[in-house]
Amino acid sequence: MKQWQRSLAESITSPEDLLHQFDVDPSRFSNVVTRYPMRITPHYLSLIREPFDPIWRQCVPDPIELSKDELVPDPLNEEGLSPVPGLIHRYPDRAVLVVSTACAVYCRFCMRKRKVGCTPSPAIGRMLDDVCRYLSETPAIRDLILSGGDPLLLDDETLEEILERLRSIPHLEIIRIGTRVPVTLPERITTRLCSILKRFHPIYVNTHFNHPAEIVAASAAACAKLSDAGIPLGNQTVLLRGVNDDPAVMKHLMQRLLAIRVRPYYIHQMDLVQGTGHFRTSVSKGIEIMEALRGHTSGLATPYYVIDLPGGKGKVPVLPEYVQRRGDVLLVRNYLGEMVEYRD
Ligand code: SF4
Repeated sequence: MKQWQRSLAESITSPEDLLHQFDVDPSRFSNVVTRYPMRITPHYLSLIREPFDPIWRQCVPDPIELSKDELVPDPLNEEGLSPVPGLIHRYPDRAVLVVSTACAVYCRFCMRKRKVGCTPSPAIGRMLDDVCRYLSETPAIRDLILSGGDPLLLDDETLEEILERLRSIPHLEIIRIGTRVPVTLPERITTRLCSILKRFHPIYVNTHFNHPAEIVAASAAACAKLSDAGIPLGNQTVLLRGVNDDPAVMKHLMQRLLAIRVRPYYIHQMDLVQGTGHFRTSVSKGIEIMEALRGHTSGLATPYYVIDLPGGKGKVPVLPEYVQRRGDVLLVRNYLGEMVEYRD
């Protein structure tokens, strides 16, 4: 067993395990994990400073996950947009391949909560046959995102097999991997993994830091290994109530990401996923955060703030209003809030 697999095996999976470190009543979480499983790696657990801090909220079950609301398990209609099992084909030139339903940590806000951790991972061999046939017959797809669950929870050999099969499809130019292991299980980013990935360039990795407290020496070292293998790193952050819905926290996060060579890519408005409603913020909170970033820190540290429209209608960027037209003149609002005249 490799070190990262040992760490995974040592993860806590039951609320009672929290008792070793924290003075909490685990019985209030027990019902939740029978519906939505829990797993917290030793590394991620070590980041918790106290109950209900931003790290705790992301990984420890909350009874509110079971409350009845108007939200649905699959608001983006991923199942309806799946031409063959495992593949989600929403945009003409891109597709998502769900290769695993397991993750190192089961995030409480997960948009695939309906299946991640609760359904078995697909049988890769059979799935790949169907997926590769579909991809070969669909030359418009030039960009494939490996997703999950977490693709990097697959062992090296399986990952290598997937990448080899995908790279045999000539029109597939770009392969992206969406993973949270640099945050939750950084020891998974091994020298061997990096040497496998770099054989299949262009490979891009999108990771998922949500709070500056997640950026520590181990996660920074994991990102450095990927960068040193020539893999461009982007980050997707989900805007989460009680975790990062604060302009100062977000600015700190974005600046810290750049310092570890990870380019902030998206801030996502929470999807309308059943069991996650307590994390939702208003869209005006997201706009407030974008206004606090744009012009107040480097443009490189300023991601897009996006809403993924329900029903699989696609992602749209949400921007603060910067421009007003008065006759022939444009009034443009700068980062200080001043309206500056501009003639186009
Ligand atoms: S790592 Fe990603 S897919 Fe896995 S539980 Fe967290 S948000 Fe969901």
